[in-house]
Amino acid sequence: NQIQNITLLGATGSIGLSTLDVVARHPERFRIFALTCHSKVEELVKLAVIHQPRHLVTSSEAHYSELQKYAEQAGLNCEVHCGIEALCAVSSAPDVNTVMAAIVGAAGLLPTFSAVTSGKKVLLANKESLVMSGKLFMDAVAEHNATLLPVDSEHNAIFQCLPEQGYCERQIRKILLTGSGGPFLKHDISTFTDITPEQACKHPNWSMGQKISVDSATMMNKGLEFIEACHLFHVSGDNIDVVIHPQSIVHSMVQYSDGSVLAQMGQPDMRTPIAHTLSWPERIESGVASLDFSQLVDLQFLKPDFERFPCLQLAIECASQGQAATTALNAANEIAVAAFLDRKIRYTDIFKVCQQTVEQGLGDKVESLDDIIACDANSRKIAAEILESI
Ligand code: NDP
Ligand code: MG
Repeated sequence: NQIQNITLLGATGSIGLSTLDVVARHPERFRIFALTCHSKVEELVKLAVIHQPRHLVTSSEAHYSELQKYAEQAGLNCEVHCGIEALCAVSSAPDVNTVMAAIVGAAGLLPTFSAVTSGKKVLLANKESLVMSGKLFMDAVAEHNATLLPVDSEHNAIFQCLPEQGYCERQIRKILLTGSGGPFLKHDISTFTDITPEQACKHPNWSMGQKISVDSATMMNKGLEFIEACHLFHVSGDNIDVVIHPQSIVHSMVQYSDGSVLAQMGQPDMRTPIAHTLSWPERIESGVASLDFSQLVDLQFLKPDFERFPCLQLAIECASQGQAATTALNAANEIAVAAFLDRKIRYTDIFKVCQQTVEQGLGDKVESLDDIIACDANSRKIAAEILESI
């Protein structure tokens, strides 16, 4: 068994730290080639002292000298870089087998693409890059013979429940994409305008970065995952139903033509899907406790309420409208969520910014990577203008 050399994009984030936790349990299998961050350079150096990578990268030029200083103080024996070219270089380096794509948002697109076009085993947490570039991304996976494994817990569950050859129209009735409904599943709708960032970031079951926590509260996260699933499994939106499952024990399901339903279950702990993708097709210890079935008294399944979660409905509509719509949606959502976290707009404005941006941006032609980057930039401009008017 050859040792896997890993580049970990977004090492200082929630997924990044969970990945390092699993990796550290299996020194005979994994070696860290590169670790990257944006602003948490001191944190990155602490991780480097433990995991001894050959390269450290910050995406931010403003943090480069600080990173160099900390790396030198720690006596690290590794190269230190900054900027997008360096991120792409450590994702495509010949010595690398596996790239964990765990940067948050559109910033992850180019480095993730770089891993795909150099034919790596790509563990995809950064759903935004796939939502932004969809068919182009999947075509590049096929063309460059990359191995794409979904880290997002729902998609990882679906991947585990599908037949080995993948989705098959004749054999499968539906993909059932589950979601907890987040912190506001039962919250009084008439008070949604008063929701604070602190309330929105407090997820009942999962501990995650801020952006995805807000996305889970609005259920835009489930909407982005709906689009992600269409591309990953080559299915149309008609083949996917969203099911609310507040306990987050079932992580998604596949309903077969004979009436069988296969579900993947587990603790709400990302180390399970991370370990699955790291070791696939084998299984390894992840550190996650077993489910105790004597304690699982009440597993519920409900229909989503689009009045409560208009972002989910908007994303499902965008999935059938095509690439320009989903690229614009992702960009608008990133702008709106950042403004909400900065207390510049209300929780309910997130939907308004997204809906209006998608409406105004629908004409864009998006076929190449350059088109996608232009559509993303244009949509951010539109969203920023809408923000100003709120
Ligand atoms: P975090 O916010 O915890 O971490 C984000 C990481 O990306 C950090 O390492 C951060 O660096 C880095 N980063 C931020 N901005 C930039 C930038 N402009 N350029 C380069 N790197 C940047 O996010 P999560 O770990 O929660 O999520 C990461 C991805 O995984 C997201 O796409 C999310 O949707 C997806 N995901 C997360 C799940 C979870 O449980 N957390 C579950 C399923 C999917 P720094 O720390 O220095 O700022
Ligand atoms: Mg998910």
